[in-house]
Amino acid sequence: MPQLRQDLVTQRWVAIATERAKRPSSFSRAAAVPVPPAAQCPFCVGHEAMTPPEVMAFRVPGTEPNTPGWEVRVVPNLYPAFGPADLEPVISHVGPYTTMTGVGVHEVLISSPSHGDDFAQLPVSHIEKVVRAYIARYDAHRQNPAIRYILIINNHGKEAGASLEHPHSQLFGIPLVPSAVCEELDGVRRYRAESGRCVYCDIVTAEREAGERVIQENDWFLVYAPFASRTPFEASILPKWHAARFETMTVEQQKAFASTLHDLTARLYHGLNDPPFNFYIHTAPPHGDAEPDYHWHLELLPKLAIAAGFELGTGVMINVATPESAAEYLRNVDLSAPAPAVSAPGVH
Ligand SMILES: [Zn+2]
Ligand SMILES: [Zn+2]
Ligand SMILES: [Zn+2]
Repeated sequence: MPQLRQDLVTQRWVAIATERAKRPSSFSRAAAVPVPPAAQCPFCVGHEAMTPPEVMAFRVPGTEPNTPGWEVRVVPNLYPAFGPADLEPVISHVGPYTTMTGVGVHEVLISSPSHGDDFAQLPVSHIEKVVRAYIARYDAHRQNPAIRYILIINNHGKEAGASLEHPHSQLFGIPLVPSAVCEELDGVRRYRAESGRCVYCDIVTAEREAGERVIQENDWFLVYAPFASRTPFEASILPKWHAARFETMTVEQQKAFASTLHDLTARLYHGLNDPPFNFYIHTAPPHGDAEPDYHWHLELLPKLAIAAGFELGTGVMINVATPESAAEYLRNVDLSAPAPAVSAPGVH
């Protein structure tokens, strides 16, 4: 019988439709044809003039801004969804409706000069620089009173919404705290009021005890398939220490986070033949010290299912793979195997 599962934090329901379950390996994608660097890729080395001027870069000493020599490069989005950042949001009313000016920031963090290498291929030492750039850009905007939330996201693969294939992340600074974060803030407060404890810290303990949804673990992080996973192979990276803010990580924790992100994306790359995915980092809102109860984390959702009428009409996702079988599959991926080259039998 299909099982409905409730997320402990958000109280959102998902349906685990075991009757429709497929073998985890059947989610493996057909091999993508490697695409050579596009001559017109604005994120490739030598094309720096195709983007707005950089706001930050890690560079080889002695190289000039907006010229080659960079390792990680941050530029404003050419087509920003939010901006500018130097105005207060203005709320107004149109009949019964409310509007707000979409002030804020929208930046692109180009992962590396390499057109083809993403987190699964980049050396951990390089991913550490990407993480440092995330934190530096977070810190650059967190004092801005107009920005009520800062979200860092990554779209990997065209089906996951990456309009340019050159690996990059995006930072959005927006004039409101989004409902997905409000739900989690409500959840941590409710749980703490009932139990006196942090719900995410309790999840760390419960998942380590159960073991069946654990994908990977190291000194600092637990990587697991959430109990109420919304999509096949959903994964979370959860700090094992209680911390509300991503951006307060020590250098040692940043190194561990880079390594954890590399490991998780490499498991997807090798195990499922480079599936498209989205990940985002949930950290406490920048203003007010009111959120010591929050516990930051990264959520990653492979794009292996399409939200259709039922999902849109109910907000309840139907997941055709159990988190337990997905975690077992990802735990056992052979990371030393050569990169997937040929098509595995699959649904895509
Ligand atoms: Zn490129
Ligand atoms: Zn906690
Ligand atoms: Zn979250």
